[in-house]
Amino acid sequence: MLKSASTLIRSVLLKPQAIRLCSSTTATSSDDEPVVLENNPYTKAPRKCLLCSTGVELDYKNARLLQQFVSTFSGRVYDRHITGLCDEQQKKLIEAIAKSRRAGFMPIFVKDPKYARDPKLFDPLKPIRPHSFA
Ligand SMILES: [Zn+2]
Repeated sequence: MLKSASTLIRSVLLKPQAIRLCSSTTATSSDDEPVVLENNPYTKAPRKCLLCSTGVELDYKNARLLQQFVSTFSGRVYDRHITGLCDEQQKKLIEAIAKSRRAGFMPIFVKDPKYARDPKLFDPLKPIRPHSFA
């Protein structure tokens, strides 16, 4: 009994292939091993602001876009917590509105709110007679 144990230890020490063979048999059954994921599937997608997600470029000539970020009552540019834009886009927006006002695309002075419900005399986007050059 004791002799057989010593021969077994000796055979293991002399033949390390026997140990490797045992470990390799367990490694071949890879179906039961846990799957290692590269990325965490539960991470939320990074939040993007309206202009970054849609890819709309701010242009000082696009007054209809810029007017949406300006208060109709005070004429001031809405703050970041109202517009929901990121810091970079908000800076671009303020610069674009200032440039648009200097160029004359956007009004500097704002109509008094008590005249806001006045009827429109004409719609510049729907002319009665089409332009002769258009
Ligand atoms: Zn953004």
